[in-house]
Amino acid sequence: MTTDVKERPVKKVKVEAPLAVLAELSHRCPLQCPYCSNPVNLEKGSNELDTATWCRVIDEAVAMGVHQVHFSGGEPTVRKDLEQLTQHASDAGLYTNLITSAVLLNEARVNKLADVGMNHIQISFQDSEATNADRIGNFKGGHKKKLEVAGYVRKAGLPLTVNAVMHRQNLHHLEEVIDMAVALDAERLEVAQVQYYGWALKNRAAFMPTYEQLAWATDVVESARKRLKGTLVIDYVVPDYYARRPKVCMGGWGRRFLNINPAGLVLPCHAAESIPSLKFDSVKDHSLEWIWENSEAFNKFRGTDWMPEPCRSCDRREIDWGGCRCQAFALTGDESATDPACDLSPQHEKIFGMASKEAHEKPPEFIYRRIG
Ligand code: SF4
Ligand code: SF4
Repeated sequence: MTTDVKERPVKKVKVEAPLAVLAELSHRCPLQCPYCSNPVNLEKGSNELDTATWCRVIDEAVAMGVHQVHFSGGEPTVRKDLEQLTQHASDAGLYTNLITSAVLLNEARVNKLADVGMNHIQISFQDSEATNADRIGNFKGGHKKKLEVAGYVRKAGLPLTVNAVMHRQNLHHLEEVIDMAVALDAERLEVAQVQYYGWALKNRAAFMPTYEQLAWATDVVESARKRLKGTLVIDYVVPDYYARRPKVCMGGWGRRFLNINPAGLVLPCHAAESIPSLKFDSVKDHSLEWIWENSEAFNKFRGTDWMPEPCRSCDRREIDWGGCRCQAFALTGDESATDPACDLSPQHEKIFGMASKEAHEKPPEFIYRRIG
């Protein structure tokens, strides 16, 4: 460690190193998407880690064997040291990715990021149609700016991923979103149906599509995948509420990824702060390696020992690792419960019924994401 933080000895437990670190540099963001996956209690700018601490943490991640760093937020480009952090990570041998709303970028900054070693940029889009996109993000002129910046990204020779969060208020434009990704020369499109944590859970009724809308979207994606083979890769995430089996959340709790929030707390996933019983450790107090191996929050749901029935005796327990802990807590009040997205969960029918009812009612007004 290149730090003077007080360190207890690292306990030697057998845990494989994570593949990637999600560095949430800031919760500040000029947009206010009502489906934002950030926690409802956002960190203020004054609580953010400084540049030196982020650089030290990047070095610790490399020493652990991490391969990738994803700079995210909020909006990571609000940080004036993004170029410095990118250069530091790139020089240390990490693959660097920027996940951005793009509205604060310009051509010079995109070029600078490319020069200092940014390997890839992901831009989030709220819709293919400007008025609706700007309404969803509550940021006038945002869509136009995103289109411009996507052009700068490709002009700089960087690969581009379009992130499109889809829901009942933009799903009818899915075909146009796919066309937009092709026109922007993106190599990948993530069609992600809203996942209901954080702000999205508050706004669930405004976003939940009907089962029929979802089935239509799945057909559109499948046919576009065939048509665009070799041109555009399309990743597709369905809403958990309509799934039969849960997603393999984060590749399993504490198995592949870790998140560092703007204040330095290390989380097993970006929504983990929604579980009040979990105690998180900070990079201000411990090395990343110590936290990965010893933090109570990571060890609580690692492996299969914690699982209740029906997961405990299920032959998928080392495939989906019991699904998502944050969703289990959000929907059942018990973070140790089987994820209700699984149709073997005793709660599944009730939750599916709730989602379906909401999807057929008039959507409520958005509660926009705000700090404080
Ligand atoms: S989802 Fe919207 S509000 Fe949340 S960080 Fe991304 S752009 Fe900002
Ligand atoms: S019972 Fe548990 S392990 Fe089995 S499929 Fe459902 S969530 Fe996965």
